Formats: sequence, structure tokens, C-alpha cells
Amino acid sequence: MNRVTIDPVWLMHIQKPARYIGGEWNSVVKNHDEIPVKVALAFPDVYEVAMSHLGLKIIYSVLNAREDALAERVYAPWVDMEAMMREKHIPLFSLENKCPVKDFDVLGFTMPYEMCYTNILNMIDMAGIPVWAKDRTDEDPLVVAGGPCVYNAEPVADFFDVFFIGESEEAIGEMVDIVKAWKAEGKPGGRKEAIRRLAQIDGCYAPSLYEVSYYENGVFRSIRPIDEAAQFPVKKRVIRDVDHVHIDDKPILPHIEIVHDRAVLEMFRGCSRGCRFCQAGVVFRPVPFLPGGDDLPPCAREERRETAGDRRYPDKEYGL
Ligand code: SF4
Repeated sequence: MNRVTIDPVWLMHIQKPARYIGGEWNSVVKNHDEIPVKVALAFPDVYEVAMSHLGLKIIYSVLNAREDALAERVYAPWVDMEAMMREKHIPLFSLENKCPVKDFDVLGFTMPYEMCYTNILNMIDMAGIPVWAKDRTDEDPLVVAGGPCVYNAEPVADFFDVFFIGESEEAIGEMVDIVKAWKAEGKPGGRKEAIRRLAQIDGCYAPSLYEVSYYENGVFRSIRPIDEAAQFPVKKRVIRDVDHVHIDDKPILPHIEIVHDRAVLEMFRGCSRGCRFCQAGVVFRPVPFLPGGDDLPPCAREERRETAGDRRYPDKEYGL
């Protein structure tokens, strides 16, 4: 397991060093040498924003619950940290083990909003991975993406190997199974074969397996599969069994204040109002109410205990 070296003295010249040191309560640190599938989960914004995102927490929890997979976080460094990393030739690294992102099997981005697309390209570049998908070799991680923006994947299709369209808690587990088997077989066919196998997961879109054409003015014209492994059309993944959806009841406690500085319990996804201009109101249709049934109160109690809420407010009644 490779680790980058960060001299603590360097961090004295950086704003909010806690963004980069990891070690938070409930973060999961596993030994890379004992785990077959290693996933770097990336959020293309700074720590305070990234740590507020529930979707990434769920995927982190789903992956780390498995014995054959590990997930570590990597967020966009602020400009002062980026300048220092580039000056000292430090590649983008994970928070848990401080491992270079390039050493992982999969680099998985959450794509929450279009404004962060340049951060995604910058993070891929900082990791030492070719930005264009066509330039990557078998030594590079598979670069995948999920989240609300992948419903319109084409503007960034040249930079990703696979998109997970729709809700990906289940698909991400299928990805681990496929990558694990592909590695155990000796990586037959290289990354091209890995991408072909991933493309067969329901809801997965691998741009290199399709031909896309545009009108002269740049407007999208057509798309067709050019590989038999490619599904067409690609249908978004929807969680059917909402009663057994994964609940992260051990949220990571940040060392510093974050944007949404609170514990979160997911009661439903999307929004039933359905305003036509709203991403959240449209991409999660039909609104999957996640009743959780009898699981919710125990999960809420567990979250309260794991975030030290019991100690901070011992006398407060939450009705739980
Ligand atoms: S704007 Fe979006 S989140 Fe707000 S009520 Fe409308 S659909 Fe729901």
C-alpha cells in the first residue's frame, strides 16, 4: 500500500487543514493489501460541501459494509492546498489511508451539479490519470460517475468510462462483484473488457460502446450502440425494495463545521411536488417513499448516539 507523505508543517500554511487529514469518528480505514476491490469515492467540491452530501455517505456505507471492498473519500482541495500539492508533486490522495487515487481500482465521482464539472477534470488531472477516457491504460482506475447530473451524461461522456444512471446502491454492489471477478481472472481483455462487463449492469452507460452524432450546430442528433455488450436504451435504475434500502446510521463526524452540520435520516427521496424546473423533483420520479417501517426509530437513535447527540443534549426529548 503506497501512501503520500504530508509534512504537518506544510499544513500550517493551508486554510483548514482538517479538510485533508481524515481520521474522523466513524470513518472506515481498511488495509488495502487485504481487500480485493478498492474504490475511491470522489466529490468534486471542498470538504465542507462534500461531507454534507447524503448520497456519497450511503455509497460509502454500502461499500464498506462488504468484506471484499473498501471505499475511501477524496474531495476537491481548496486552491491553496492544490498549489502546495502541485508544487511538491503530491498526487490526489484519499482521506482514510492517504493513498494515491491512481492506486485504486475504481474512481467513482458523484456528479451533483454542472458547476463542478471543471473540478472533476482538475481532480482527475491531479490524480495523474489521463483526463480523456480514450487515453487511459490498464494501469489506470476505471473512472465512473453517478448522481443527478448523469441523466444528461453526454456533455462529459468523453471523460468517463461508465455512468451509473439512477439510484446506484444496488448497482455499485454489482460493480464490485464484476471488478472482483475480472481481477481474479487476471484482468482478461484489459480495461476494455472490464468496461464491457460493467456496461451490462442495469442502468449503466459506457460511452465508448456507443456512437453519438451531432448536427452542425452542435445539437445532439442520435446515439446507437456499437458493441453487443451495450444495452439500449439505458433505463435508469430504481430501487424496488424500499423496505430494505441501506440506511447509514453511523455518519462520519467531521472535525470542522460543514455546510449541513447535522445528522440526516432519509425518509424519502426526491420530492412529490414535481415542479417542472426542478432537478430533484424530476430525476427521482416516481418518488420512492422510503418508509423504513420499524427500522427508522432505531436508526435515528443510533445516529443520535453515534453523533454524540445523547451527550450534548442528554435531557432533550426527540420522541424516539
Ligand atoms: S422546487 Fe423541487 S424540491 Fe422544491 S417543491 Fe418543487 S419539486 Fe420539490
